[in-house]
Amino acid sequence: MSDESTIFDAILAGDIPCHRVYEDDHVLAFLDIGPLSRGHVLVIPKERARFMHELSEASAAAIGSVLPKLCRAVMAATGCAHYNLLQNNGAPAHQAVFHVHVHIIPKFDDGSGLGIEWNSGELDDGAAMAGAIADAIE
Ligand code: AMP
Repeated sequence: MSDESTIFDAILAGDIPCHRVYEDDHVLAFLDIGPLSRGHVLVIPKERARFMHELSEASAAAIGSVLPKLCRAVMAATGCAHYNLLQNNGAPAHQAVFHVHVHIIPKFDDGSGLGIEWNSGELDDGAAMAGAIADAIE
């Protein structure tokens, strides 16, 4: 467990209010206080972990298993037909709160939602890279 407390610990403890949309033994979901679009939800594990690669498989599984129904609920409540899931790890990767969280961000016809700069390149070392990653899996 990370020893760095964040504002999400205060939310989990009930010391800071949130607009809760879902809770179970392992997961809490609530509205983002600075939404990119209407219905922007954050899904967090109750386990304190800074990054996805530090999260237990049990908490990761718990988050993964509730995402489809939370996405359906966001779609039903907002009327959005499209959305992004975003999960940032590290300050250079736009992480501001160092407690794992998954954003559910509705995308609307007015353009509100997640804006993405997607600078795609060429895959020129696919075999070597795929092999390196595959070999690194624990
Ligand atoms: P990230 O850049 O992925 O770390 O995103 C952190 C998110 O947490 C931002 O979208 C913030 O608006 C959101 N956030 C920060 N504090 C709160 C809070 N007290 N309640 C709800 N959302 C928050």
